[in-house]
Amino acid sequence: MRVCNFSAGPTTLSEDVLKEIQKGLVEYENTGMSVLEMSHRSQPYYDIHDEFLALMRELLNINDDYEILVMQGGASAQFDAIPANFLHSDKDKADYIVTGHFSNKAWLAAKNIYKGTKCIASTTDTGYTTIPDFKKLKFTKNAKYVHITSNNTVYGCQYKEFPKTEAPLVCDMSSDIASYDVDYSQFDLVYAGLQKNLGSAGGAAVIIKKDLLKNINPKCPITFRYDEQARAKSILNTPPTFTIFVAMMNLRNLKKLGGVKAIEKVNKEKAALLYDFLDNSKLFKNRVEKKYRSIMNVPFFSPSKEMDQKFIQEASKKGFVNLAGYSVAGGMRVSIYNNMKLEPVKKLVEFMKDFEVKNK
Ligand SMILES: *Cc1c(COP(=O)(O)O)cnc(C)c1O
Repeated sequence: MRVCNFSAGPTTLSEDVLKEIQKGLVEYENTGMSVLEMSHRSQPYYDIHDEFLALMRELLNINDDYEILVMQGGASAQFDAIPANFLHSDKDKADYIVTGHFSNKAWLAAKNIYKGTKCIASTTDTGYTTIPDFKKLKFTKNAKYVHITSNNTVYGCQYKEFPKTEAPLVCDMSSDIASYDVDYSQFDLVYAGLQKNLGSAGGAAVIIKKDLLKNINPKCPITFRYDEQARAKSILNTPPTFTIFVAMMNLRNLKKLGGVKAIEKVNKEKAALLYDFLDNSKLFKNRVEKKYRSIMNVPFFSPSKEMDQKFIQEASKKGFVNLAGYSVAGGMRVSIYNNMKLEPVKKLVEFMKDFEVKNK
C-alpha cells in the first residue's frame, strides 16, 4: 500500500503518472524499447525532451526572451555554475541574500572560490524565520547578479514578493517552482532541482534570459556553460533521459489538472489547513513570521525532542511518513508540494488533533 509521503525531496508523485511511466519502462509507445534504452540522439527521445521544455514554457508562461535548459548535478551544481558563468575575475562582484539552509549553501559555494561575492543580508540570527526588509538592502554597485532563494525548504519561509534589483536577479526556486502563479519575467535566471515540483531526481531546470548568454566567462567548465547548453538544446552530452521523461509526464499531469493556477488553489488550501491547526494548537508551534509562511514546507515543533520523536513514530505507524524535520533544524516538517493531494493533509491534521488530545 502506498503511504502518505510528506518528503521534502525527492517528493511523492501521482500514482497515475507512475503507472504511465511504468508502461514506458519496458516498451515506450511503438519504439520497441524502454525509455532507459533509447539513444538521446533519436527522434523518440527528442520528442520527450522537447515536450518537457515546451510544457515548462507553457505552464510557467515563460516568454521568448528566455531560454529553458535542463542540466545535471541538481540544484547544488547551479550553486557552482552561476558564479562560474558570470564572474570572469576577482574584480567581478555578486550579492547573496541568505534566508535559509540552501541559500547559505549557495553563498558558501560562491564565496569559497570568488572573492567578489558578498552576503548583503542574512536572517541566520532569527533562525531563518523571516525575509529581510527590501528597503534596508544595500546592493553592490555594478554587481553581476543578486542571488536569492524564493522558498526556504528547511525552515519554511517564503518570499511573497521580490526585490527590484539593478543587477540581474537570480533565484533558486527548487522548492516552489510551478506551485503558484508568479511572473517569471521579474527574474533574469531561475533554477530548480527537478525532484520537488517538477519530477524526480537527476537534474535541474534553468530558465535564463537570453541577454545573459552573451557574456559567459570563457573559462567556465564547458558542461556548466549556459551558452553551450543553450546552443546544444541541453543535449551537449547524454542528458538524464529517464529523469526528463518523468518530469515531462509529471508536467503533462499538471496541465491536465488545470495548470499552475489550479494547483496554487489546492496548495494554498493544504497550507491553510495546517497553519490554522497550528495557530490553535497548544502543543505544536510554527516559528515563521506569519506573512512569510511557506505554502510548500510547514515546519513545527512540540515542547520537547522526546515528544517530537513520539509524534514522528506514531504518525509513521498510521502511514504518514517523512515528517521529521531536516537534521539541522529538528522538529517536524510537512512538505506539501504539487503532487501531495488535499485528502492526505486533511487526514494528517485529524491525526495531529487526536495526538494533541492524547498528549496534553
Ligand atoms: C532541495 C533544494 C536544493 C538542493 O537540491 P539538489 O538537487 O539536491 O542539489 C537547493 N535549493 C533549494 C531551495 C532546495 O529546496
